[in-house]
Amino acid sequence: MNSINTKSVHTASMKERTIQPKVMPLYQTSAFAFSSLEELEGYYEGNGTYLYSRTANPNTDALGQTVADLEEAPRGVAASSGMSAIFAGILAVAGAGDHILAAEDVYGGTFHLLKEELVHLGMTVHFADFTDLSQVEQILIDYPEVKLIFSESITNPFLRVEDLAVLEQLKKHYGVKLMIDNTFATPYTIQPYALGADLVAHSATKYLGGHSDVTAGVLVGDADLIRVAESRIVNLGMNLSPFEAWLTIRGIKTLAVRMKAQTENAAAIAAFLEGKAQVWYPGMGAIVTFALPESMDVSKFFSSLGWIKIVPTLAGVETTVSYPFGTSHRALSLEEKEKIGVTRQVIRLSAGIEGAEDILTQLGAAFVN
Ligand SMILES: *Cc1c(COP(=O)(O)O)cnc(C)c1O
Repeated sequence: MNSINTKSVHTASMKERTIQPKVMPLYQTSAFAFSSLEELEGYYEGNGTYLYSRTANPNTDALGQTVADLEEAPRGVAASSGMSAIFAGILAVAGAGDHILAAEDVYGGTFHLLKEELVHLGMTVHFADFTDLSQVEQILIDYPEVKLIFSESITNPFLRVEDLAVLEQLKKHYGVKLMIDNTFATPYTIQPYALGADLVAHSATKYLGGHSDVTAGVLVGDADLIRVAESRIVNLGMNLSPFEAWLTIRGIKTLAVRMKAQTENAAAIAAFLEGKAQVWYPGMGAIVTFALPESMDVSKFFSSLGWIKIVPTLAGVETTVSYPFGTSHRALSLEEKEKIGVTRQVIRLSAGIEGAEDILTQLGAAFVN
């Protein structure tokens, strides 16, 4: 090997050494090499090696399995975003002609997926007020085509904690599957699979990643359903990149300590806001939603928050605020917003890991302004 052209391409990969890294290395490769046809044949016989990163990659596999372990579920798969994890979960259960029953207060992006996109695939979606479970049951009675019940363990933005025990009874009685989006709660707080859900979806963009530097999703659940979801992800190209999976796994290592700190801060913030605003805090998780009194100017409040930035996401280590009316629920009509209570005065706060006193001082200053 003498030519610089050859050496520049091959030298680095030839230096094979016995390296034992402390953490899983990043397999930033689009495909995997084979040294013989027998080895290639071995891949197809299922010997656990890898072929092509869209179909499987060690980093994305590790992420799926890590979240499955945290959720006490047998199997998991990573996806390019929370939306693709949810979509893959739907496709694992339902197809053209099938119906889906969803909570009307799901995350705005999910609402959009359910309301606008699935119709093009021949599915019908019924939305119900999941605080009225007789309404939920009536839809199951009226529409035997329903294959899937979908809700969130803690909803956005009013942090309603879903009654998973009742949903589990309903899904069993009517022979349908149950998928729960566990993004806001994380397995630190609630484990929906252990409580009877068949599929649990995550926007890993939020607490699992935890540092606001990845867009990723994970779906975990029954092994047979995850296998179907995996093939949808592979064939529709909804796979996650190895680097995003690697970053998400790094984030997950501190999930428990972050959630503990953020939950404690959220509780302190909720107590502080009591009496100053209408507060929604379910006593768990790290999100606090509040509505300023009509007498307060919401734009002025947002502009007076100093280092607490307006960010249309949640779950990072920094305390941030968002404006559901103008962002996550923007796509909803005014009537739809009003129906679920997303008014102009509503603010969603995501507690970070800063010192509680500093957060309260900064928030207090915005109330004085
Ligand atoms: C952010 C979010 C999603 C969508 O996740 P992406 O990673 O942005 O695709 C779904 N559900 C909930 C509850 C979310 O907060």
